Amino acid sequence: MSALELIQLASNIVFVALAAITIVAALRRPARGNIDVALLFGSLGIVVLETRVQTALADVSPLWTISVSLLVMALPYFLLRLVNDFGHVAPRVRRAAEIGLLLSAVAIVLGGTPSPAPITLGLVAYFVVFATYAGVAFIPIARRTHGVTRRRMVAISFGSLVLGSALLVVAMPILIPDTAALSAALVQVLALVAALAWFVGFATPVALRRLWQEPELRAFLVRAAGLARLPDDSDVIEALQQGAGMTAGVTAAIGLWDQSHQVMRWVRDGEAIERGPGEFFAWPAFESGRTIFSADLSRERPQVAAAARDSRVEAAIAAPIKIESRRIGALVLYSERAPMFADDDIALAQLLAEQCAVVLESRRLAVEAAAARANELTARLKEDFMSAAAHDLKTPLTTLVAQAQTLERRMRSGKPADRAGVERIAREAKRLQHLVEEMLEASRIEQGALQLQRELVDVREIAAEVVARHPEAGRIRVEASGPASGLYDRLRLERLVENLVENAVKYSPPDAPIDVRLLRDGTELLLSVSDRGIGIARTDQERIFQRFERGGNVDDRSYPGTGLGLYICRGIAEGHGGRIWVESEIGTGSTFHVALPATEGAMN
Ligand code: ADP
Repeated sequence: MSALELIQLASNIVFVALAAITIVAALRRPARGNIDVALLFGSLGIVVLETRVQTALADVSPLWTISVSLLVMALPYFLLRLVNDFGHVAPRVRRAAEIGLLLSAVAIVLGGTPSPAPITLGLVAYFVVFATYAGVAFIPIARRTHGVTRRRMVAISFGSLVLGSALLVVAMPILIPDTAALSAALVQVLALVAALAWFVGFATPVALRRLWQEPELRAFLVRAAGLARLPDDSDVIEALQQGAGMTAGVTAAIGLWDQSHQVMRWVRDGEAIERGPGEFFAWPAFESGRTIFSADLSRERPQVAAAARDSRVEAAIAAPIKIESRRIGALVLYSERAPMFADDDIALAQLLAEQCAVVLESRRLAVEAAAARANELTARLKEDFMSAAAHDLKTPLTTLVAQAQTLERRMRSGKPADRAGVERIAREAKRLQHLVEEMLEASRIEQGALQLQRELVDVREIAAEVVARHPEAGRIRVEASGPASGLYDRLRLERLVENLVENAVKYSPPDAPIDVRLLRDGTELLLSVSDRGIGIARTDQERIFQRFERGGNVDDRSYPGTGLGLYICRGIAEGHGGRIWVESEIGTGSTFHVALPATEGAMN
């Protein structure tokens, strides 16, 4: 057997097998797409068988040749029907193909065998034009789709274009002499390639579909694992929709059931849509807990027909999203054309819906756990606050009460009030007042109720005044380079500088110098307070700005404090649109930095 004969035999076997497979599939599920695929491959199979029989019987009766030619010429027409199944072919083009097919049939029947060259060329031209048209028409369909569907459309397009070129090769001997043998071999190979590409595209075997779906499915599953942690609900839904759509190769939508309002919530193009029971395609799936498929929504589901037509959706699969018997929502896969779906897409939709259920459920649990943790934290903070407040108020109050009692006793026994005692009362009362103010300010910040009274102030002046008022002013230097005026809340900035200076004094040895610096840097005003004190461990440097948090190297006896000062400083800095941070090393010293936006009212 020659090589050419071998190729011919192999390709013939493949053609007949493909015809058998597609015809059986169409008989099993006589859907439009399946029937058109069977027509295409069936005629190819018959052409092959007829030619074989003709050769075997050495029968050259024109009847064989005519029937084979008629079937071959019908191929582009069947192909065009398939384009229309998956996308859309303009009626004009369909009419032209039908007329072309009719004229070809007349030419074949009346032209005699072999047909005169002009007729053959005319037939080839008809075939090539429509096969190429079909091949090109699948390109935009492939572009609109993704995943497995895109791969299928690309294969179909490729097959159609290869078939168009095969017909050009048929015509080769007419134009170039002595190429009959080469042409015959090439046509065999090209036809085989085209048929295989079509088969892969039109009747994708399940194993290949799985293989094609695998990368998207894997990406979806990997992505899904991290989705439960996304902060925003709509981001989760969007990511699930996108992942499900990519895996199935069509468009996906997810609806979430709102039990209290008895509506299903969907998001389309960033817009929330609510639908009551029965008002949406997925309702029966949601209600019964079973996956449903409709190949023709506008005919089979009158309630959603108008919406389906508006959004040019022909077919859809809906799967319930549920955890055990608790229904969460529904996943819908929809497509412009029914043949885009394969039989096993129903099982795929179920699998995707189950995955969505797992993600949504773990997200719900995570949100619930976070809320419980937040409640616990609030309760603990409240307790902390009560005990800290009681503790901090107790010391000055005890002194106050004791001093007041002494004073009372002296007055009762007719002695004059002693001056030092009165001064101590005043000092402790002020300390109390300061503490209460701090607590109030911290609670305002906590509630986001810090209202700034902005006015034009010079931060240099504020810093100088704060330092001048301080009992240890002697060791504090103030340095300012450039102007530092802006629209800020005067009292708040005073409190901020006071707190930082107070800490620098408190946490550094007596007489160690402290530097307050002011600097205008581009659009920011930078304030820093540096000391050569005990320093703050790296691991504490973020934490100390939180309420009641104190460094690990301080304790209540050697350094009394509430842990509220820096929290307030941060609230004030952030309230002005700025930031606060610290640079520090244990045993060397600390520098607290505050950056405030230089405001428009600044006079510089
Ligand atoms: P308090 O000083 O009342 O404890 P703050 O909120 O002002 O509260 O400060 C929080 C903690 O930050 C302090 O307890 C201390 O551990 C640390 N800290 C603040 N300023 C300094 C500083 N200049 N040097 C060393 N540690 C500091």
